[in-house]
Amino acid sequence: MKYLAPAYIYTSEGLQANKRMAVSDDGIIDSITDLESQSMEPSEVETLPGVALLPGFVNVHSHVFQRALRGHTHRPLSQKDTFWTWRNAMYDEAQRLTPETLYTLALQTYREMLAAGYTSVGEFHYVHHQPGGQPYAEPNAMSEAILEAGRAAGIRVVLLMTAYAQAGFQQPPEEGQLRFCDASVEAYLARVEALRSKGVPIGVAPHSVRAVSENWFRFIADYSRTHHLPLHVHADEQIGEIEQCKTAFGCTPIELLERFGALSSQTTIIHATHASEVELGLLAKYKSAVCVCPTTEGDLGDGIAPYAALLDANIPLCIGSDSNTRLDPIEELRWAEYSARMRYQRRRVLVAHEMASPGPLLLDYGTRLGASALGLHTGVIAPGMSADFIGVSVNHPAMAGWNSNDFLDVLFFGASSEVITQTWVQGSKVYENRQ
Ligand SMILES: [Zn+2]
Repeated sequence: MKYLAPAYIYTSEGLQANKRMAVSDDGIIDSITDLESQSMEPSEVETLPGVALLPGFVNVHSHVFQRALRGHTHRPLSQKDTFWTWRNAMYDEAQRLTPETLYTLALQTYREMLAAGYTSVGEFHYVHHQPGGQPYAEPNAMSEAILEAGRAAGIRVVLLMTAYAQAGFQQPPEEGQLRFCDASVEAYLARVEALRSKGVPIGVAPHSVRAVSENWFRFIADYSRTHHLPLHVHADEQIGEIEQCKTAFGCTPIELLERFGALSSQTTIIHATHASEVELGLLAKYKSAVCVCPTTEGDLGDGIAPYAALLDANIPLCIGSDSNTRLDPIEELRWAEYSARMRYQRRRVLVAHEMASPGPLLLDYGTRLGASALGLHTGVIAPGMSADFIGVSVNHPAMAGWNSNDFLDVLFFGASSEVITQTWVQGSKVYENRQ
């Protein structure tokens, strides 16, 4: 057992002073007790003066290799740049990857995530095979590179194994997409099984309604139901996708997902930027979640998610760093609220009730609801949960003036991840800023 005595601990009751946390050797929070309740030798307790422990942030949606594009796609890529011209640059980057370069890139990026306060990441992984589509001798070589980087960095990785089969509705894959594609849905599921049998935390991820056919969707949705696995899918990020879907199927992407049996409480829709009222009604009906990726959606000019409607429909929201153009959960969540304010031209959009401030709900999106979307037993500091947390320096200049009522608002609107001084995953300190 390990004992921690920080200045504050953020529990479901809010910010608590004078508490001691016991963490078991296998990294589970055992108890949170009053400091006075039982006397202990000072040598047995690690004190963390000036530190508030908060649950670690959960990054629900990452494409780790896209970190290599950061800052390099803002020069003109064509006369009029859009998501689709950016995608060409991303495909070029994907073509260059090898298991070795992917490992190096993932290790560096996962370390950056830990320093920013993410303790778990859902890696939406789709670069599976050799350029041209030929599988590696070890068919999961690229997945293994990611998992190994996660272990070396110390971050919790849920591998969202992406299924990819076609370029668009009933169109064969383009050259640049061949290495994303499996020969059949059975071949894809065999690779998923191989990883699951090793105990790897897995979710299934049919890439989008563009990239996966009805038959594949039905197989994958069945598989996720049978094995209780999260199912993640991109939808409604781009108007172009919605128009193509309407032309091919006479309905919108989320309506199509319902038709394919792919909506359930295990489903997380990535983006839902342009989701209609009908689509939001379906997500509410099936208790599916939405993952927004505000910094990437801003970078790519996607649009602003219908935050108020999502909140009204009680759809659980979580966040992802997606293209990793920025890695800072505090900034990601601030962008969610700020872009919602710009969309609706009012303040305090993402609030639990009319008279609440946004801080607590933003924290919930960034932690508990993210963990739930990845099927993880973390995201809250409470006995029985994994000991995944971050230490915030309460004396950092960016936090100056905080009080116990507005601590989270000061954090989300006044600071960035520079206030995070340490990160713990499964009871081990995996990052510390000693400055
Ligand atoms: Zn994505």
